[in-house]
Amino acid sequence: MSLSVAIVGSGPAGLAVAERIAHKAPQARIDLIEKLPVPFGLARYGLAPDRALDKKLTTLFTRALAAKPVAFWGNVALGREFDLADLRMLYDAVVVATGAGPDRRLGIPGDGLSGVWGAGAFLRWVNGDPELASAPPALDRVRSVIVVGQGSVALEVARLLARSAKELTKADLDPDIAATLAVMPLQTVHVVGRNDLLASRFQPADLAELKKLARAQAAIDPEALAQAEALADGLDRDRKALLRAFAALAAVPRNEARLSIRFHFHLRPLRLDGTVGVERMLFTRPDRLGQNLALRGELVIAAIGFERCADYDRLVDDRGLIAPGLYAAGWAKRGAAGGMAEIVADARLVADRVLKEAGTAPSTKPGRVGLARLLETRGAGAVSLAGWQRIDAAEKAAAVKPRPRRRLRALQTLLTTAAGPERLL
Ligand SMILES: Cc1cc2nc3c(=O)[nH]c(=O)nc-3n(C[C@H](O)[C@H](O)[C@H](O)COP(=O)(O)OP(=O)(O)OC[C@H]3O[C@@H](n4cnc5c(N)ncnc54)[C@H](O)[C@@H]3O)c2cc1C
Repeated sequence: MSLSVAIVGSGPAGLAVAERIAHKAPQARIDLIEKLPVPFGLARYGLAPDRALDKKLTTLFTRALAAKPVAFWGNVALGREFDLADLRMLYDAVVVATGAGPDRRLGIPGDGLSGVWGAGAFLRWVNGDPELASAPPALDRVRSVIVVGQGSVALEVARLLARSAKELTKADLDPDIAATLAVMPLQTVHVVGRNDLLASRFQPADLAELKKLARAQAAIDPEALAQAEALADGLDRDRKALLRAFAALAAVPRNEARLSIRFHFHLRPLRLDGTVGVERMLFTRPDRLGQNLALRGELVIAAIGFERCADYDRLVDDRGLIAPGLYAAGWAKRGAAGGMAEIVADARLVADRVLKEAGTAPSTKPGRVGLARLLETRGAGAVSLAGWQRIDAAEKAAAVKPRPRRRLRALQTLLTTAAGPERLL
């Protein structure tokens, strides 16, 4: 029998491993196991809906799913239908590509108030993730949002919130969710970082995009900008580009914009206040001892990273090995850092290692047949590639132009739409 590989997680990393192994070892049998009925991970549920997925990545992901040696098993989860020991008994190699854990919390008093969200959860709701069906509460009262973070995810969230209702009609966004966002009487989006301006991990191109927003104008803390400009001569190329992007934003003449995106720096979160929901956030200024600052905000979105997904990161080496025959790829391997192109490149190296270590000896493991039997005994109904294709077709058929699709959002609807006559074996 030929090499059998189980890949857990069908996000960019899992798909890249599958595609690479399918390409280099077409005789292998690769089972791509996914807890949701749909593939793509954060490429579907994380990407801001006003961004299109890179065409090369779209092609790669579609090719991986359709490759002959690959079978998609949606709606089955590691830790629910089976554990790692089960998979290791069934397969020659197991690759864990389950992504990162939940949003990192602010960890300050008031963190549990209603209206305090993580950026990952917020974007998953916006993108129609069936595991996050409810909207943040009372959006119709939100005049001011505080986005905490200095990385690209913070900027993605701020930009999306600042979009006008008309701009949102062009985004890959469910019309009901777009309408829920448009109801917000939003006047200010604060983007707050604890470090100085030059420590921001915003992409200059993303900052430049804020100039094109129909209803919003950016405002940069003038003191932070002046401090950064004083250091300009000694900066490397990337920092200079970042500074230029901020300076260009600050130089846009004041206009009639109804919404302001205000960038603050050097503010350390201290406390969140409110009765039922959050009403304001208090910060200290480490550079000015004893000075606090309060910002009003009825919605607070923390874009400060993600928890690790499990213990893999403590066990995994930098080439993806956890134990003989057991590997990790993507954010499950390296933590929540790196965009999709980087993750794909890294995951391909893990795939190469799997192939190298598997060698050419014939497999004695049951692989796919064993998985099917196991799922049958546990009463689990998996979604096949054909099932995902039915979901895909239904979503495209329901699209409200100019949007490319209208996502099915309820788990049961996804499962009913996926149901079909074929068997997975
Ligand atoms: C909010 C946000 C916006 C981003 N925007 C961009 C962007 O614009 N451009 C860019 O290049 N990168 C972006 N990224 C980064 C990009 O999403 C990651 O680099 C990439 O998704 C990591 O891939 P992954 O496969 O490791 O994890 P994921 O994409 O998280 O995929 C993990 C998969 O595993 C599945 N899974 C989890 N647990 C189990 C289980 N127990 N059993 C079975 N399956 C399981 C999940 O459902 C998921 O499908 C963004 C990230 C975030 C959080």
